[in-house]
Amino acid sequence: MRKITYAFIGAFGFTMMSVGILAQQPQHHWAIVVHGGAGVIERSALGPNGDKDYRAGLDRAIHAGADVLAKGGTSMDAVEAAIHVFEDDPLFNAGKGAVFTREGKNEMDASIMDGSNLKAGAVAGVTRPRHPISAARAVMEKSPHVLIAGPGADTFAASAGLEMEEPSYFFTESRWQALVKQLKKEGKPIPPRPAGVPPESSTVPVAQFDESPAMHRYGTTGVVALDKNGNIAAGTSTGGMQGKMPGRIGDSPIIGAGTYASNQSCAVSGTGTGEYFIRLGVAREVCNLVLFKRMKLQDAVDQVIHKELEALHGDGGVIAVTPDGQMAWSFNTPGMFRARLAEGGKVEMGIYNDEK
Ligand code: ASP
Repeated sequence: MRKITYAFIGAFGFTMMSVGILAQQPQHHWAIVVHGGAGVIERSALGPNGDKDYRAGLDRAIHAGADVLAKGGTSMDAVEAAIHVFEDDPLFNAGKGAVFTREGKNEMDASIMDGSNLKAGAVAGVTRPRHPISAARAVMEKSPHVLIAGPGADTFAASAGLEMEEPSYFFTESRWQALVKQLKKEGKPIPPRPAGVPPESSTVPVAQFDESPAMHRYGTTGVVALDKNGNIAAGTSTGGMQGKMPGRIGDSPIIGAGTYASNQSCAVSGTGTGEYFIRLGVAREVCNLVLFKRMKLQDAVDQVIHKELEALHGDGGVIAVTPDGQMAWSFNTPGMFRARLAEGGKVEMGIYNDEK
């Protein structure tokens, strides 16, 4: 009788344990890393106000993404939300505040990738969607394609119901002056001021134009995130390289170069001179080192940036995250706007290469 009782209690306990295990979803600690571009970013060029403003911008973006993750939202939603903040912030080279082509136009590139299913979407050379990252996501979710470029991408974004703007919306005086400065230096013709933008005003403080032109070549934005379900995602949004040829497409909308995400390995977003990132397939290269060489994430990003990119004389950086919560960044430029945050932790932020 006693034996039977024990057997009953044992079976009951085991059943309750199994029910408990089944009912409990695997909970991961969420994590998010953001970048606002890499380049010749020096204290002397930024000044105390620039420094403060960029840090505030990074803080707003990372918290927009973290809020989504803390509420149990997906890594895709977190990436999109954080990049929206960058795209609305004229300090960053994405959406409003994008750099100009040498013909004086804003042609923007963006991409997003879902590590849980390897679905991806991208747009290149768009001139109208307020949030190019959402246009990229629409390509992934509402079209049979991965990458749509040029006027077709603008038309598609409008038909997907996204918020559209006149090209003049993306104009900022400081980016314009930086272009003029660069073209003058290179002895190239200065394009006419874009239609519909305010006339050049002598009341705009000169200091605003005084930043090093190198600053303006960068400022691309990217986000990688891990959600509570263990899924990772990556996204990148940019105006590209200042003074680029019309129609030039960088690495940011190229899956495998500027953006990559797979739950098998990691999620990566890059920034830098895109031509090198395309040639090396930087984002996918980092993930391959994690997947096939079983490298720690930090070792993988350092190997790609400090060995492989440098061997080509390329410049730039990456941010990355793995499904098991490793976060990393690496860059070989004097600075990269960057921040990271893991559930229960504090935001770690940096701009210059002498910060942690
Ligand atoms: N990678 C971007 C491009 O080449 C620029 C940047 O990251 O600053 O278009």
